[in-house]
Amino acid sequence: MAAPARGEQVVLPTTLGGEPTGLGRFGEYGGRFVPETLVPALEELEAEFRTAWVSDEFRAELGDLLTNYAGRPTPVTECRRLSERLGVRVLLKREDLTHTGSHKINNVLGQALLTRRMGKQRVIAETGAGQHGVATATAAALFGLDCQVFMGAVDIERQALNVFRMQLLGAEVIPVSSGSATLKDAINDALRDWVASVESTHYCIGSVVGPHPYPWIVREFQRIVGDEAREQCRTRTGGDPDFVVACVGGGSNAIGTFTGFLETAARLVGVEAGGHGLESGQHGASVSRGVPGVLHGARSLFMQDEDGQILSAHSISAGLDYPGVGPEHAQLAAEGRAEYVYATDDEALAGFQLLAETEGIVPALEPAHAIGWLAREAGRSVPAGSTVLVTLSGRGDKDANQVAEMLGETLG
Ligand SMILES: *Cc1c(COP(=O)(O)O)cnc(C)c1O
Repeated sequence: MAAPARGEQVVLPTTLGGEPTGLGRFGEYGGRFVPETLVPALEELEAEFRTAWVSDEFRAELGDLLTNYAGRPTPVTECRRLSERLGVRVLLKREDLTHTGSHKINNVLGQALLTRRMGKQRVIAETGAGQHGVATATAAALFGLDCQVFMGAVDIERQALNVFRMQLLGAEVIPVSSGSATLKDAINDALRDWVASVESTHYCIGSVVGPHPYPWIVREFQRIVGDEAREQCRTRTGGDPDFVVACVGGGSNAIGTFTGFLETAARLVGVEAGGHGLESGQHGASVSRGVPGVLHGARSLFMQDEDGQILSAHSISAGLDYPGVGPEHAQLAAEGRAEYVYATDDEALAGFQLLAETEGIVPALEPAHAIGWLAREAGRSVPAGSTVLVTLSGRGDKDANQVAEMLGETLG
């Protein structure tokens, strides 16, 4: 299948990609660990998705939205000056160019369509930095759905602009003050709300995490990133890249990218948040340093203390600040099909500046980790002359203020 050109109708896959086994298992990870009351809703969601994904009508509708609302397909950009600087050939998959500025739109449009098909009028979502909240509120506005977004009180303080954006889009932001009043507590409250409202409400999860079927359906909605990129790379370079690199928070942009390249010989590299360094304990490297456990409805790798208590993650970028990872990544790591590495806060900051200066592209701080890792490893574990595809999951406008403060500069 050739990649569609910009403005040409996006073609969705006609098949379901590698399905989890049993009850949403990826090897020994995944599953569905939820209160009894949620089981019917998860079964309904899975059944709806199975029918929808192979229905011509659903595919035409989602394809139209992705093309004419979200702006797909996104291009692959050849980075000439960065390549020269690093001694490797760098290609970027440009999710920063989508409507709302990140890959999250691919997932929320799919889930909003499913919500409508299930006859539900209300969506809820959790959000940390506010990016998934804004994306969900966007889709809810587009579809005329009621939308409530659970957000930690601490995050509400830190992310005032995104709170305002959600309200502007007609969503209600519900403060969560339990626990550490951040993302994992917001997920707990969203799940609690859902138990009580499941008849009328769809829970729109923002990454490849949570109970089955979420890790699977979110991956299928994000697969378009990797499917497009593979064809675009073939057109541009005549082959597959040697390395395919993406940042990993919960893991949705990475798994969407990797899925397109699973059958190729490309080395798949997920870059986690190294924070102040893995020895400091202040990081978000759940694959590198996590241990198996169950949280938010699934078995996966989580950062835990000796008693199994979940630890707080730390990252310069709010989108990577989650103490766990999607179960399919845990399995890809166990099988050795993908490698998980990290970039520290400082390396991400350097990557942020490097891409801006060499290519005129300001990345979000999340994918700046992938750039920062590549800048460190080019000519070392990434041999000189390699071709490297990096998914640029989002644009950096949202982070410009924070970076200015950290660099000690003032704006304007
Ligand atoms: C939310 C976000 C991420 C992290 O989420 P994944 O599910 O790991 O992709 C990465 N990049 C950007 C730009 C984001 O907004």
